[in-house]
Amino acid sequence: MTVHFPFDNSYAALPENFFARVAPTPVAAPRLIKLNRALAEQLGLDPDWLDSPDGAAILAGARVPEGAASIAMAYAGHQFGNFVPQLGDGRAILLGEVIDRDGVRRDIQLKGSGRTPFSRMGDGRAALGPVLREYIVSEAMAELGIPTTRSLAATLTGERVMRDEIQPGAVLTRVASSHIRVGTFQFFAARGDRDAVRALADHVIARHYPEAAQADAPYRALLEGVIARQADLVARWMMIGFIHGVMNTDNTSVAGETIDYGPCAFMDAFDPKTVFSSIDHMGRYAFGNQPPIALWNLTRLAECLVPLLSDDEDKGVEIAQSALGGFAERFNAAYLAGLSAKLGLFTSQPDDAQLSLDILAAMAKGHADFTLTFRRLSDAAGDPADLGEVRALFDDPAAFDDWAPRWRQRLAAEPQDGAARQAAMQAVNPAYIPRNHRVEAVIRAAVDRNDFAPFEELLAVLANPFRDQPEFARYAEPPQPHERVLETFCGT
Ligand code: AMP
Ligand code: MG
Repeated sequence: MTVHFPFDNSYAALPENFFARVAPTPVAAPRLIKLNRALAEQLGLDPDWLDSPDGAAILAGARVPEGAASIAMAYAGHQFGNFVPQLGDGRAILLGEVIDRDGVRRDIQLKGSGRTPFSRMGDGRAALGPVLREYIVSEAMAELGIPTTRSLAATLTGERVMRDEIQPGAVLTRVASSHIRVGTFQFFAARGDRDAVRALADHVIARHYPEAAQADAPYRALLEGVIARQADLVARWMMIGFIHGVMNTDNTSVAGETIDYGPCAFMDAFDPKTVFSSIDHMGRYAFGNQPPIALWNLTRLAECLVPLLSDDEDKGVEIAQSALGGFAERFNAAYLAGLSAKLGLFTSQPDDAQLSLDILAAMAKGHADFTLTFRRLSDAAGDPADLGEVRALFDDPAAFDDWAPRWRQRLAAEPQDGAARQAAMQAVNPAYIPRNHRVEAVIRAAVDRNDFAPFEELLAVLANPFRDQPEFARYAEPPQPHERVLETFCGT
């Protein structure tokens, strides 16, 4: 028999209390609606076979492939600040791990594949709308160069799921460098299972932070490594206006990838208080709160690791605090370097941070579109004498008018010529992001009319976010007032 998935499973070899062995629940009528052929090839899988009825049956969870681990992972987590000692994969199954073409170990997981011992009250299923949203946004993030889980496939199950409306059931095949979360550590720490915390930490070091194994203090190096990757990741989100929406500790990857796209969205007009999630009443996960929330989540990870950091608890706490103290510096450096690049500054001067923060303040005041402002600045960067197209994005241009001459003057001190600056800026300031009103329109077409053409078109545009695509210029535009989406529902 041909091996269709060359599995090499390591998580399933961990102690039995790390997961539940469970198979996906077979579905009525599996139908593949999207296959990411390039990703399939990267994973060493045969896209033509995945595209066959046999492949679709596996991707929809109707059949378990040869060699699969087929486990639901255990984890806990703080949801909106409240600790829940047991969450776990309530509707996902880790089929197993493969080693990709670059030698990187990657999980293949089905999301929406039926009930597991962790399902609690849930039906174990996913609805088509949120599956399409995750597919679109995760692939867009990958094209934008941001660490993220990926989407290998989306399938229809042929069944219906009850949400705030009845929707077609769907399964997302998700690929991640692992699905280990801060909440995975919390699961064992909350039970006082120090051996399990250590086994998990050793697994994470071997898998994601091999350099930590060589360090004088490997667990401290692990903590510092996760802190650094999360700081970099959230800084990247802040560079493109991404709002995760549900930054619970169970949705925080220790590998530093964006994970668990639920009510996520990109901001249109710049406002740090922007919230999309219909369940985030307090604005805990608002755009501007993401850096402090990341630190809050990392603090929960550090608490789990304290017993590994030192035999003496006070000493362990001290080490954890000192590691956490590194977050702000790392984040600020990444954030300010990112903003400088967005403004075309490749040398550094003492007032650069202020210049960056002032354009953001002007955007907030003038309700300017975040993505378009930076893209139009890039377009004008070759010859910044005329910034009329940027100015037109501000409904109150006074603050922009104060700022523009400062930017021009600062650019004059840069060594590159205009063309090089423009190209460099266009390579970091996307023209195309998955704007929320576009994502919603794609979902409506698919759910209401079984029409997947808008989904395909949006994916095609987002495959080249930094390149002008004149025939798709409308996709770069913010929503008209009547198109504006104010809330996205909690992705289930
Ligand atoms: P999420 O909000 O998707 O990050 O999920 C939070 C927790 O709820 C996780 O333990 C999920 O596995 C679980 N969950 C979410 N939706 C469902 C569902 N439809 N059925 C079972 N469990 C679910
Ligand atoms: Mg989750």
